[in-house]
Amino acid sequence: MISFEKDLALVEELFEMLFPINRSITGNGVRETLKILDDVVPIKINEIECGTNVFDWKIPDEWNINDGWVKNSKGEKIIDFKTNNLHILNYSQPVFKKVTFKELSSHLFTLPSKPDLIPYRTSYYDKKWGFCMSYNNFLSLNKDDIYEVFIDSNFNKNGSLTYGEIDIKGKGEKEYLISTYTCHPSMANDNLSGIILTILLAKHLKKCNLKNNYKIILAPETIGAIAFLSRNKDLNKKITGGFIITTVAGKGEFGYKKTFLGDSDIDKSVLLAFGDKKYIKYPFAPNGSDERQYSSPGFRIPVGSITKDKYYEYDEYHTSGDNLDFISSKCLLESLQLYKKAIDNLERNIYYTRVNPYCEYQLGKYDLYPKLGGSIYQPLATKNKKVISSDQKINCLEWLSFLCDGKNSLMDISIRAKIDIELLHEVAKEMESFNLLKKYK
Ligand code: ZN
Repeated sequence: MISFEKDLALVEELFEMLFPINRSITGNGVRETLKILDDVVPIKINEIECGTNVFDWKIPDEWNINDGWVKNSKGEKIIDFKTNNLHILNYSQPVFKKVTFKELSSHLFTLPSKPDLIPYRTSYYDKKWGFCMSYNNFLSLNKDDIYEVFIDSNFNKNGSLTYGEIDIKGKGEKEYLISTYTCHPSMANDNLSGIILTILLAKHLKKCNLKNNYKIILAPETIGAIAFLSRNKDLNKKITGGFIITTVAGKGEFGYKKTFLGDSDIDKSVLLAFGDKKYIKYPFAPNGSDERQYSSPGFRIPVGSITKDKYYEYDEYHTSGDNLDFISSKCLLESLQLYKKAIDNLERNIYYTRVNPYCEYQLGKYDLYPKLGGSIYQPLATKNKKVISSDQKINCLEWLSFLCDGKNSLMDISIRAKIDIELLHEVAKEMESFNLLKKYK
């Protein structure tokens, strides 16, 4: 319970510190964000020079902004970057001039269907200046007035794109990817929640005695993932699957977007992590986040996403309504728990095969078969305080003896037999010690 309270305090602190930062696909906002996260878990910072070709793309000039506003003829600020960074079109060109209402309105972005909210808009590759505002505020503007517009932004050809990398080493060969995106400005669920969950997951994994390796990437969406992949063209030789961590702290329903394979180890690990918990199942579609890059034909890494109020699916998505009131730190920790469970399942996912595959073992010959009339509860995984009944143990022995044919992993057996993978893992280890099962992968 103490660790839950500590995690909760850390999540709340990170939300408060990181929410106001103006992030984009390049620039100091991403660096500042990674620097704060580096205090939680050390991050290797990578910089890729502007103008570098990355597959079919090119790293754009680095964008930074100091200020931006619109004043009416009375000198009153009717839009102010300093009150909400969503007011500026992300990657806006600089501007400083007087304009008519007509000219101003051709540079304004509103959302009439959500009239109180400021929309989040970007123009990374099309040179534009612009402001975003609520539709209701737009309606209140005087059409005969003259306005002064000011955006103090700059583009640096000699700058770079920044992404963070954390490598967590296990004892084995297998490696999984955990990726999140760092380019969104002040929106809490999309995707500050993903960034915070990722760093807490990294902190947790660093303390675990792991079998698998984990590569954690914190990069701007699309261009950042492409830039990382262009430097790691053989990534799919090492990495067999992964997760994109996004929109994990809403107060609404859990969801899971499947990998493009639909039945990969990643999908199985999540299915088992949810157990009886209710969640929305989203089939794979070639939209969404960086699965578009990681799962593209040249890589084909299956990646899935556990979500809580998934992107696209909530009214406040990509608006000023996705603020600190929209999310809950407790909800983030519930999502973190599911990710931890999914990774636990991957850690326990061993392929066993029978040493002698012919007919049943005469289990009574070995000291692992619970004797009739013996003790009802036999502690197995004592460090986790799990206990297993005789019936459960017999069930495990029967299913493991039947399905350990070289084709079924412990996750497969857990799904088929509806037995907790932790119990299967413990009984399988015991069978291995009697030379009844052997690991083969
Ligand atoms: Zn988004």
